[in-house]
Amino acid sequence: MNIILLGPPGAGKGTQAQRLVERHGMKQLSTGDMLRAAVKAQTPVGLKAKAVMEAGQLVSDEIVSALIGDELDALAEGQGAIFDGYPRTAPQAESLEAILASRGKKLDYVIELDVNEDALVERITGRYTCATCGKGYHDTFEKPAVEGTCDKCGGHEFKRRPDDNEETVRTRMAEYRAKTAPILPIYEAQGIVSRVDGMADMDEVTAAIEAILGKR
Ligand SMILES: [Zn+2]
Repeated sequence: MNIILLGPPGAGKGTQAQRLVERHGMKQLSTGDMLRAAVKAQTPVGLKAKAVMEAGQLVSDEIVSALIGDELDALAEGQGAIFDGYPRTAPQAESLEAILASRGKKLDYVIELDVNEDALVERITGRYTCATCGKGYHDTFEKPAVEGTCDKCGGHEFKRRPDDNEETVRTRMAEYRAKTAPILPIYEAQGIVSRVDGMADMDEVTAAIEAILGKR
């Protein structure tokens, strides 16, 4: 079983990918990680990529395809792949199909963690942690029992991450939409896109993903 997992930052994609790896023994194939690993291992593709990057050029689709081919060949019999951050363009989507087909494989599902942008802004901008013990809180969803006092350690200092602001969240959402816009219609046309509510509780999201995978 091979899937593409999509979701904007803050939708919990990393957690869900990790759970798929644990529950199904799948392998997460992130192009960035693959590239770093291939360069480090000095594989033929890695050496080619290294030369290109050292020349200040972008790694070509051809190199990325070769990397993915190598990773697919290294999978155990029956082991599924989760594609992360790839494909991003229509030509890459075509390449992926060809790479899989030449190995008797195919893409089974594209699962998108769907979020409501305004709700995501509220979820992210409202979160903060205790500066002393790190316990997480939220302005709306999880306030300390006594205002200004940490439930766990009694501390009075709290902190917020600088990235947890509305502008950053909305910019990331726009970037995400721009990145997925070229490939979603391709997979929609193939009828393999499923959406799950990324705003739901993490365990509910996992259950929804499992239900989709269980259909085959
Ligand atoms: Zn605390």
